[in-house]
Amino acid sequence: MRILTVIGNRPQFVKAAAVSSRLREDHEEVLVHTGQHYDDALSRVFFDELGVPPPDVQLGAGGGTNAEQTARILARLAAVVPERAPDLVLVYGDTNSTLAGALAAAQAGVAVAHVEAGMRSFDRWMPEELNRVLTDHASDLLLCPTETAMTNLARESVAGRAHLVGDVMADVSLAFRPIAAERSTVLADHGLEAGEYVLATAHRAGNVDDPDRLEALVALLEAVPQTCVLALHPRTAARLQATGLRDRLAAAPALVLLPPQGYLDFLALTAGAQAVLTDSGGVQKEAYLLGVPCVTLRKTTEWVETVEAGWNVLVGLDREAALAALARPVPPSRRPELYGGGRAAERVCEVLDAYTPGA
Ligand code: UDP
Repeated sequence: MRILTVIGNRPQFVKAAAVSSRLREDHEEVLVHTGQHYDDALSRVFFDELGVPPPDVQLGAGGGTNAEQTARILARLAAVVPERAPDLVLVYGDTNSTLAGALAAAQAGVAVAHVEAGMRSFDRWMPEELNRVLTDHASDLLLCPTETAMTNLARESVAGRAHLVGDVMADVSLAFRPIAAERSTVLADHGLEAGEYVLATAHRAGNVDDPDRLEALVALLEAVPQTCVLALHPRTAARLQATGLRDRLAAAPALVLLPPQGYLDFLALTAGAQAVLTDSGGVQKEAYLLGVPCVTLRKTTEWVETVEAGWNVLVGLDREAALAALARPVPPSRRPELYGGGRAAERVCEVLDAYTPGA
């Protein structure tokens, strides 16, 4: 088959790293980069480090509001899809690129495969949740990371066919862990000792767009008693700058402010952390896979298994709850294999291999 893959932001580059090379063994892939994330720190470094093939098409459609961005990507893809005439369009995750890719394909009568289908936070205020639900209902092949995702799709009676494949991000995390341990010097570079710092990330619109919530986030980070390493997402950096909160954060004595990290350095930072404080979806899972307790700065999560297994606590922006969660005793020693054990990309490709377009 000719498969047109749409990617556009940091976690999608990680997901494509698991699937693209394997997919190319039996299929032709046209890789489209929408430009949703375009700077070196959020884009190029992932292609370089993880061996994602260079994009065949660059849409350069980043920036603007969710509506503007989705519309711009959709309009540009509406031209690319018929020109490249794929048998199937492959989309990942829950971003504007995901939804626009699925819609452009469905409108052109091309089959859609969605990797990371069925994830739900049941919070429709999250732009990602709308993207997930709408993409799943436009998809023909729904490639689910977890049993929970399969159940969610069954409950929604989606029209496409759901398959449990595992989580492709877990494949990458497991494969690159020894490489990060060998190559990354990030702990030494910043004078950090393994097990003696908390690693933090935050960029969800619900946490950083509203100035009051952003202030609550800053207050929470300031209150962390241990060394707290914050890998600052550009969206958050821009909001901190605009509200004048960046200087306050930079003055917090226990806080180490870092720019967005490359994949290997971030993996090394996660592996060495005493705990992770995050509102990221991917980072919650990666912490689990590495056996690092996670405190999630949200009230809901799609990765519910990490909470049920006792490795993740949801605290929203409640400072006291976050501090209590960070101080809690170490989680259970058992970490059940939840995300496919590193074989998700293989299963994605098996489903694609068995698929006959139009049948
Ligand atoms: N990540 C990274 N550098 C960072 C922060 C995150 O490489 O400074 C990686 C992380 O390991 C994970 C992915 O980016 O694989 C998660 O992306 P993000 O948090 O932006 O998105 P989400 O998963 O919340 O959609």
